Amino acid sequence: MKLLLKLKMICQNKEAAAMLLVFGAALLLGSLGLTLKSLIPQRISLPSSPHITIINQKGELEETELESFLVGVLAAEMPASFELEALKAQAIAARTYIVNNMDGQTGSQRHKDAVVCCNFAHCQAYYSTEDLKKNWGRDFSRNYARIQQAVQETAGEIMLYDNEVINALYFSTCGGKTSNAEDYWTASVPYLKSTVCGFCTHSPRYANTESFSLQQAAAALGCSKNGIKDKLDKLSARTIREKLGLFSAKFSYSINGDNIVFQSHGSGHGVGLCQYGADGMAKAGYLAEEILQHYYTDIEIVNIYQQE
Ligand SMILES: [Zn+2]
Ligand SMILES: [Zn+2]
Repeated sequence: MKLLLKLKMICQNKEAAAMLLVFGAALLLGSLGLTLKSLIPQRISLPSSPHITIINQKGELEETELESFLVGVLAAEMPASFELEALKAQAIAARTYIVNNMDGQTGSQRHKDAVVCCNFAHCQAYYSTEDLKKNWGRDFSRNYARIQQAVQETAGEIMLYDNEVINALYFSTCGGKTSNAEDYWTASVPYLKSTVCGFCTHSPRYANTESFSLQQAAAALGCSKNGIKDKLDKLSARTIREKLGLFSAKFSYSINGDNIVFQSHGSGHGVGLCQYGADGMAKAGYLAEEILQHYYTDIEIVNIYQQE
């Protein structure tokens, strides 16, 4: 078979770009049972966008094609009104997330036969073309073209750290600086480090005030009204955020009479790419790669498809 393919990678460090002769990735994938993710450390690239199995919005297994699926993901994960370079950064992050799930472990453990699902709380949000026509109305053609452009201009690009596909986490707004992975979860991740953002002040969620009656707060936290302070001292910020549905885990609070008022910064878990920050950086003239380098520490961007 004519499956000797040339591999060329694009990355920050051009010297690292290597030409390799390898068996066609399709052949490897098909007959040797290897996964795309396992080919990446060997710098083996695919001829084109791979087919992936996802769990669709109806909860059924569906075979689709990575790049076209990404259009629906990007449209659901970031407003089409964001700057193009921010959309491109988000497209790379979303593609990286999917590729990271394309192995026998990460993806399959999470949902048996599929790479990702369309549940935003579990994997990534996704809108079908019909959804987008409904949501965007008159703006459909213009918005769709923008989203498609961001996906096409980054086709195949993903992020690696130390030759491994990264877990490309992202969230809405950091409110000043992003968080270390270990500040929100428990394990530290070398590329998910806190960084000063300073580009998300235009987010409607930059600073928030959320107020609850003591009764509501006690019910949500599972304690008595008098026990609220003690409970808040003991629980992690993440748990408090989840129990009360706060915008972020970066908050302070005060009790005023029969109410408890939380002042919080940002929206989301705070780890990885700040989406409003990406938009702010793009407005300031930064490119998608520079945006990603800012929010993910020491990563490189490579292309998983053969380059001409
Ligand atoms: Zn999922
Ligand atoms: Zn930010």
